[in-house]
Amino acid sequence: MPPSLAPQVLDTALDAVGNTPLIRLDKIAGAEGLKCNLLGKVEFFSAGGSVKDRIAKRMVEEAEKDGTLVPGKSVIIEPTSGNTGIGLALAGAIKGYPVIITLPEKMSLEKEATLRALGAEVVRTPTAATWDSEESHIGVAKKLQRNIPHAVILDQYSNPNNPLAHELGTGPEILAAVATLDNSSKTVDVCVAGAGTGGTVTGVSRALKASNKDCVIVAVDPKGSILAVPDTLNDDARGEMYVVEGIGYDFVPEVLDRDKPTVDVWVKMDDSAAFTAAHRLMRLEGLLVGGSSGTALAGALQYLKSEEGWARFGNVEGKNVVVILPDGLRNYIGKPWFLDATLRAPATPLANQISQILRS
Ligand code: PMP
Repeated sequence: MPPSLAPQVLDTALDAVGNTPLIRLDKIAGAEGLKCNLLGKVEFFSAGGSVKDRIAKRMVEEAEKDGTLVPGKSVIIEPTSGNTGIGLALAGAIKGYPVIITLPEKMSLEKEATLRALGAEVVRTPTAATWDSEESHIGVAKKLQRNIPHAVILDQYSNPNNPLAHELGTGPEILAAVATLDNSSKTVDVCVAGAGTGGTVTGVSRALKASNKDCVIVAVDPKGSILAVPDTLNDDARGEMYVVEGIGYDFVPEVLDRDKPTVDVWVKMDDSAAFTAAHRLMRLEGLLVGGSSGTALAGALQYLKSEEGWARFGNVEGKNVVVILPDGLRNYIGKPWFLDATLRAPATPLANQISQILRS
């Protein structure tokens, strides 16, 4: 039995952070004519429901070790698009820290409800506020810190424990999983991840390239964000709002290493392609993912179908392509991009048949 499935009793939910499975995306690969292994790293299996749980846990534990956080005294404040906040609120609930999360308005009500379920305070901030303004989620967090005694901002945007959590956690987990695959390169040939703070792509890249220096790292940036390199890629839809949550920014976070050799290729992706891809993951693979998982999958397919990606990987048996799927549908169930395609979708032939039977 794989260790993750062995019967076990954990001390707290923090011990159920990370160690997420790689799941084959065979139906999508088949529909796209891919010969490589397409594998999803499915992060909603983590205790708080996202790829950000690992960084929250690590930032808290390291801050406790160096005395920055003192149980019974410190207050944790963090500006986030929600998932880091949920990880911190989970750690705060277990360890007894009050947690305050500053959250841009665009982020879902489901994330706010989850944060409040874990006992956190949530302060909403205007989405359009630029990152360095006083009203932004970052500006408001700093104001609260100045005025609340013993308040600490662990700061995922600059904290080295953010990429380190992925270099020491997410990356090695992926490597250990692909090493078990028969008839494959037994290493990661391509890894695709969206970038928010950039901690995931930066840290995972370091781990994967240390194992296989030829591994190609593809980073995906929503249209409207400015993270992609070269900057001309960002010209299309520059400054425009996008709906997908958790990825893309109007500034380059310190922890994101955007250049080669950390990131080899940048791909831009729009909302519509991202949400279509998220629905495919649900319908074809049974994976209840969030919107940025769709962005990552759509970015992966765009790269694998490019001339270079197709010749080197997409059309080659035994190559392992890993797509990071950062969070789950729990965070978005009331969002129009989801409801319009499900509850408000046109009736299916089977639904029409059911109505006919029930009317007769
Ligand atoms: N997807 C979602 C839903 C997220 O919340 C985040 C974190 N902001 C990411 C992707 C990107 O992760 P990272 O911050 O490590 O780049």
